[in-house]
Amino acid sequence: MPAVAGPLAAKYKADADRILAAAMADNDGYAALTYLCDHVGKRLSGTPQLNTAVEWGADLMRKAGLENVKVQPVMVPRWVRGNESGAIVGPVTKPLHMLGLGMSVGTPKEGITAQVVFVRSFEALDAMTPEQVKGKIVLFNPGWHGYGVNSVYRVAGPSRAAAKGAVAVLVRSATGLAMQIPHTGTLQYDETMPKVPAAAVSVEDALMIERLTKEGPVTVHLQMDAHMEADVKAGNVMGEIVGSEHPEQVVVLGGHIDSWDVGQGAQDDGSGIMATFEAVSLIHKLGLKPKRTIRIVFWVNEENGGAGGKAYREMLGGKVENHVAAIEMDGGAEKPLGIGYGGFGGGRRRTPPAPGAPAAAPPKPFDESSLSADEKQSFVYMKDIAALLTSIGADTVSPGGGGSDIGPIVADGVPALSPRTVAQHYFDWHHTEADSLDKVDPEDFKKNTAMLSVVAYVLADMDGKLAGRKSVFHE
Ligand SMILES: [Zn+2]
Repeated sequence: MPAVAGPLAAKYKADADRILAAAMADNDGYAALTYLCDHVGKRLSGTPQLNTAVEWGADLMRKAGLENVKVQPVMVPRWVRGNESGAIVGPVTKPLHMLGLGMSVGTPKEGITAQVVFVRSFEALDAMTPEQVKGKIVLFNPGWHGYGVNSVYRVAGPSRAAAKGAVAVLVRSATGLAMQIPHTGTLQYDETMPKVPAAAVSVEDALMIERLTKEGPVTVHLQMDAHMEADVKAGNVMGEIVGSEHPEQVVVLGGHIDSWDVGQGAQDDGSGIMATFEAVSLIHKLGLKPKRTIRIVFWVNEENGGAGGKAYREMLGGKVENHVAAIEMDGGAEKPLGIGYGGFGGGRRRTPPAPGAPAAAPPKPFDESSLSADEKQSFVYMKDIAALLTSIGADTVSPGGGGSDIGPIVADGVPALSPRTVAQHYFDWHHTEADSLDKVDPEDFKKNTAMLSVVAYVLADMDGKLAGRKSVFHE
């Protein structure tokens, strides 16, 4: 939806232009991201690096002059990858480009050696007899149909295969780019099924195994030390610009401070926490005082549990209704196109489908006529605000916005928003060794900061409010 300038664009033009100019001239946000990536580095839940990042983040907020800076204590899981390897051992011998899935159990010390059963879909697996799967390693390669579909195989595939007697699972990495790089990510075990070790393999390796299985039996050896240790105390980091007239009303924005244990968590989600932080910091630096409170939050444990988002919801209790908007940036700082609004498309993380159900329901086309009057008015507001972002090319509004960390409060009716970018490369690097600072273009980063800063400021200061929609929170 293109921008349509109205009373908000007229009222906030001068402030927005100041914010945009300051954001495009600002180097502090990218410098902070650089420090986070190069000096703190990867920061998986439960590691000392995560807690270093938490302390550093709180310090950054204090130095920026934000108010009410605090760390909300949150217990997070500690999953340890350990040594791991995989190889095709028959009919040919070849090491696999593999990366164990987060939260996976390990193999026995001697590893697992078993024949591979190749499937493209859950339907194909369901059509097999238990005898065909028992004692085997199931490889899922659904092709690339976007992260929503592929991540379902990663999340739910291990238990689906275990239900049929598989002893381990391999999944094609959830990416459209084949560069022999495996992509990790979390799995979710069905507690009623045996837990089997599971790993991602590169697209190329998945395709080679598929070709070999068409010729005859293929045997793979998998060795993984992965295991869980005791939960560790970490925390959500937060700071505020306290509202001048309605301090109890809050626009919250942020991203997640944890990352996977590979790469630097630069795009996912270093770019999200640093762009949202700098967006708030700029409002403060410019001396702008919105009527409502703007709160920046670095949520913890998004990648493998979501403990931070849930703890934040618990902290609010009945005050969740005072949140007038929640903005989450967790899709990388590529060139922004505008803002997504409304929980119409559901969250990014989908509930694993039950056996027999398709991997993902086809997305429903957006139906504007189904909107309530308040929701229609909210789109008018958003298109009006988007008109302030024309100079940076981010002047569109898309239906559907949100994120895992704000999922619990969005389910309680807090209006959800998230940046929309060109999204050309995010899933090339996502959850890999290649998610490093060099992937974040400084100009694109600044544009995201600029857009977030204007949107957060106007939402916190304008007379009207966006509409939310209550739903059921699915973990
Ligand atoms: Zn993320």
